[in-house]
Amino acid sequence: MSSHLPRTLLKVIILGDIAVGKTSLINRYVHQKFNQQYKATIGADFVTRELHIDGKIVSLQIWDTAGQERFQSLGPAFFRGADCCVLVYDVNVQKSFEALKTWREEFIKQTDIPDPAKFPFVVIGNKIDLDGGASRVVNEKKVKEWCESIKSGPSSGSMPYYETSAKEDINVDDAFSTLQKLLSLMT
Ligand code: GDP
Ligand code: MG
Repeated sequence: MSSHLPRTLLKVIILGDIAVGKTSLINRYVHQKFNQQYKATIGADFVTRELHIDGKIVSLQIWDTAGQERFQSLGPAFFRGADCCVLVYDVNVQKSFEALKTWREEFIKQTDIPDPAKFPFVVIGNKIDLDGGASRVVNEKKVKEWCESIKSGPSSGSMPYYETSAKEDINVDDAFSTLQKLLSLMT
């Protein structure tokens, strides 16, 4: 135990349409596992992962939805105090990408962040493994254009973009370590 170290709690929320793989990404990152079975809820509001950043202990509190995203009816407690927002879509479902604009707007509406252009968003396109990539429909270039068109984070850069597979464990750690870097600028 190194309880004398300064502690910081950071809240990360994951948004995106139902079934894009939000819960699977969190499970992969936090528990190093993948569950084939579809479960709309994880039963808890958040999971926590402890990180050591520059001699500080940072508790990353990752908030997952419990299926309410189907109705776009996430309560205020879900959004309150968020330090970072991860936007997830499925590269095999076009409308899940289109929905990210709405999810981002919903996030901005539900929180009182003073300057959305300085707030850290990370964008993830998941399920790149599906059919060995053959069922992919979302155009990577279009996604990158959108990410570059929106300012985000303390230095108002573009939104970082990662393509992942929670199932095959591709790029999941990379996506979350970018998030850690963004957050370390805030601790
Ligand atoms: P959520 O509703 O966004 O939380 O999505 P889930 O994490 O519950 O995943 C929905 C379904 O997609 C489940 O059946 C998962 O097993 C599956 N899934 C999630 N991630 C991947 C992935 O990277 N590749 C593939 N092939 N399936 C995935
Ligand atoms: Mg889920």
